[in-house]
Amino acid sequence: MLKTGRLDHGGIMVNYSCPAACRHCLYSCSPSRRPGYMGREQAAEVCRLLRGSGCRSVHIGGGEPFLNFEGLLAVLRELNKAGIHVEYIETNGFWAGCDSMQRKNAGVDEGPASAGEESPRDKLKRLIAEGGSTLCISVDPFHAEYIPYAAPLRLTRLCEETGMDYFLWKQQFLQELSRLDPARSHSRSEMEAVLARSYLADTARKYGIRMGGRAVNIEEECLPARPVKELLDAVPCRGLLSTNHFHIDMDGFFIPPGCTGLRIPLAELVEGALPGKYPVFEALYQGGTDALFNLAAGRGFIPKAAGYPSKCNFCFYARHFLAGPDNHLNELDQNHYEEALMYR
Ligand code: SF4
Ligand code: SF4
Repeated sequence: MLKTGRLDHGGIMVNYSCPAACRHCLYSCSPSRRPGYMGREQAAEVCRLLRGSGCRSVHIGGGEPFLNFEGLLAVLRELNKAGIHVEYIETNGFWAGCDSMQRKNAGVDEGPASAGEESPRDKLKRLIAEGGSTLCISVDPFHAEYIPYAAPLRLTRLCEETGMDYFLWKQQFLQELSRLDPARSHSRSEMEAVLARSYLADTARKYGIRMGGRAVNIEEECLPARPVKELLDAVPCRGLLSTNHFHIDMDGFFIPPGCTGLRIPLAELVEGALPGKYPVFEALYQGGTDALFNLAAGRGFIPKAAGYPSKCNFCFYARHFLAGPDNHLNELDQNHYEEALMYR
């Protein structure tokens, strides 16, 4: 039976929408990703389940949590009510760098209006008043392909002025970013011209990214493919039920640490999911990629003749196949796979 133990450290993903579509995004977020935001009732139910499973602190992420500021405050209130500490809130800082008109024109401002023309500074003050104490602000070349890096830097100044704590993820990239125009985003070819021809591989290596979600494209470009028979094994993927750095998405689904595109309602995992209900999850958890291969091949999956750069890359494509509508496997988020491959 699939069942989680005590939930240690995790994140609440309040949405999947994002004004960026970073090439390393493990959750395949983007402006075209399924819209929506975690509602107050869903947040309350997630808090109840987390609390009952021993979880006492989380971070908030997305998507981009600040796309719906009132929604973010509502989730924060529910966490406060439940006595669950919020370590930090992740953001790419876009909202500190452009006005609301630009966001509307870009089609990224969803949810109820955030108190009219409320300024970034006023938002920070309200966030502090509601118990938000720390921001994790993304800044790196992959983000800078979409978000001019002046925006996260401006947000750091506003944090200092208002008393909001923050940390940059990742500070080490600031030096190379200083060679770019901070006021605009930069295409991959511009990055290659200014930073290095090997910009993609260099940034991925310095980051130490996990090659899941949209990063499957990076792995395929940077590493050679190997035949399937060399990659697969029967080693159970026990990390699927790891309770360290798991995420709960806006619909109340548990997302395993690292192995994105799989999701099971948290309520079921806390109680113990019925055997046979989630065949892909079970196959991987019990029999590793050998078992996944057998499951997918039985439904018509044909692996690429050229092979894959890793067994996790194979796993992504086998699950992508299984996520198709004919297979009726609710544990696989079809949108995740499509969005991963849409932006390269
Ligand atoms: S990594 Fe990029 S695309 Fe993904 S949620 Fe963060 S800002 Fe959005
Ligand atoms: S093979 Fe699949 S389930 Fe196993 S660790 Fe890799 S991505 Fe996760």
